[in-house]
Amino acid sequence: MKTYGYSIAILLILCLPIAATAQEDFNYPFELEDLICKEQEKAELHMDQRDLRNPASDQTDIHYQEIHWTIDPAQKYIAGEITYYFKSRVDNLTSFILDLSNALQVNAVIRNGTPLTFTHSTDQLLTIDLNKSLQTDEQDTLTVTYEGIPPSNGFGSFEQGTHAGNPIVWTLSEPYGMRDWWPGKQDLVDKIDSMDVYITTPPGQLAAGNGKLMSITEQDGKLIHYWRHRHPIVSYLVALAVTNYEAYSDFVHLTNGDSIEILNYIYPENVEQVKTQTKSSIDIMTLYNELVGLYPYADEKYGHAQFGWGGGEEHQTMSFMGSFSFGLQAHEMAHQWFGDKVTCGSWTEIWLNEGFATYLTGMTYENFSPDEFWPQWKSSTRNSIMSQPGGSVFVDDTTSVNRIFNGRLSYNKGAYVLHMLRWVVGDDAFFTSLQDYLDTPGTAYGFAKTAQLQNYLEDNSGIDLNEFFQDWYYGQGFPTYDLKWTQESDSLIFWLSQTTSHPSVSFFEMPVPISVYFNGTPTTLVLDHTAQDQRFSFFIGNESADSVLIDPDFWILSKNNTITEIATSLYSPIAQDKYTIYPNPASALIEIVPAVDIQEVDLIDILGVKRNVRFDGRRIPLENIPSGYYQVMLKNTNGEILSIKPIVVVK
Ligand SMILES: [Zn+2]
Repeated sequence: MKTYGYSIAILLILCLPIAATAQEDFNYPFELEDLICKEQEKAELHMDQRDLRNPASDQTDIHYQEIHWTIDPAQKYIAGEITYYFKSRVDNLTSFILDLSNALQVNAVIRNGTPLTFTHSTDQLLTIDLNKSLQTDEQDTLTVTYEGIPPSNGFGSFEQGTHAGNPIVWTLSEPYGMRDWWPGKQDLVDKIDSMDVYITTPPGQLAAGNGKLMSITEQDGKLIHYWRHRHPIVSYLVALAVTNYEAYSDFVHLTNGDSIEILNYIYPENVEQVKTQTKSSIDIMTLYNELVGLYPYADEKYGHAQFGWGGGEEHQTMSFMGSFSFGLQAHEMAHQWFGDKVTCGSWTEIWLNEGFATYLTGMTYENFSPDEFWPQWKSSTRNSIMSQPGGSVFVDDTTSVNRIFNGRLSYNKGAYVLHMLRWVVGDDAFFTSLQDYLDTPGTAYGFAKTAQLQNYLEDNSGIDLNEFFQDWYYGQGFPTYDLKWTQESDSLIFWLSQTTSHPSVSFFEMPVPISVYFNGTPTTLVLDHTAQDQRFSFFIGNESADSVLIDPDFWILSKNNTITEIATSLYSPIAQDKYTIYPNPASALIEIVPAVDIQEVDLIDILGVKRNVRFDGRRIPLENIPSGYYQVMLKNTNGEILSIKPIVVVK
């Protein structure tokens, strides 16, 4: 009793700051649905842009950009000058093609002081004539100046508005909005390796940006904010926001004495309240650092900038936030590892961004509120996924942005597939694989595909996961388990079957955890379920089991499971057992009498492994069966068990 009270007290002390914040801000199911809903709306807005992929995206590799933007938050207007350092990825490249809305006007394209000709066609492509031919790996540098009123996309990619009467401009490009406000490559094939961004604003304004704030200098009565970013960044994560922000910083202290700055740009009217909320980000980042490795931009900063859209967006090194609930902070910060450092290589693999962000948010509850919010998270995530019998994480309809950003599948089922992978491969292999995914050249600071994640998990666990991905990623639905159990002298015996909710998967091969209670104390047994009606036997000596639960910690997606205890002597078919098997012990064959109603005979060894035997309607030859103890299970045409008998084979 004393130990119990003591451990509860410790738990409360450790959890209180986060739990209190979460309690206050976090209305779990509503919030996640709201977040997903916002992300869907955002994607939908840009749907018409989807097919306008820059055909020349993969012909060049942009390695550096120097960007100058002039923004007055009182006006919906941008003036920019961008210098691109790029190299050709092909031979005989004669033009450099960028995505840019036709609402913006290109003033000039200059190389070394010499103007280059360009066309800015109605298909929103800026095609620059290089006036020479670049060979593979040959470098070039040129500068584009442009300006104009970005097109209106509702609350889309470049927005001007007010908060408490003060003007604000903010951007939000994911997935297809970059071209609305700057010329670049709107794709998932090339990250800008490094950039310097200078944002000029009227006095009294602060400009949020990517990377580290190097300086704010005054020039001609204006402020120039210099942001330096020295990590690869995909174009949809380049962002700015300008208003009369109030800034404050929190710090995450690392064990080696270093610290990571969390820089917050908040509306003055909200800063007092938000200051208490963003303290949670210190704990969240400390946890993520432990779980998946050091924050990828620790040498620069993390931050939040408040903006006028209801959701959040994981802009690299500075998430833009419409509110500061615990869940939103956890989700957007998780994206810095999954989405920003490693970006899904195609929008159809968005689960690699959103499934991970959803699961990492789940793991904050697992660690900070294991008895309250963690079970709630699992339960509401499972309820969402299994509210329908089908649906795959794999995006089977790439023409629908709603399908791509589907909350039930890309977010929730994506997160639960990760949770199940963790169960199947174990914590060590799971977290090592996440580190590999984040740190291995090829995916680190680049793009990833599902197959690469699978490879890391297989390499670290030694487990072939093809079947798993076939069933849970490409396949649809979930199993409903039927567990029968009984106790025979010194053994506990289980028979496990399943039906599936969707015809795309006939059987989910999974290790199924079972909790057995002996005198009120649970013991976990794992049934490696690979076949229908599979029999499992465990030696329990003279213990006596009170009750049995299937997957009490909810590792596996399954629903409407049934558990039946069979009292062997009362279980009618067996109780009325009319069969005799002889001889016993046997060596060459066994014979079953009467040979009626029997469709199938299973011979099961003491490890629960079924041996292949031939049954001719009456006899079973034992020529390939080694000496040992076996159970003979007789089944009728409906697969029902007619009899189970022990035999001994002696050779
Ligand atoms: Zn997200």
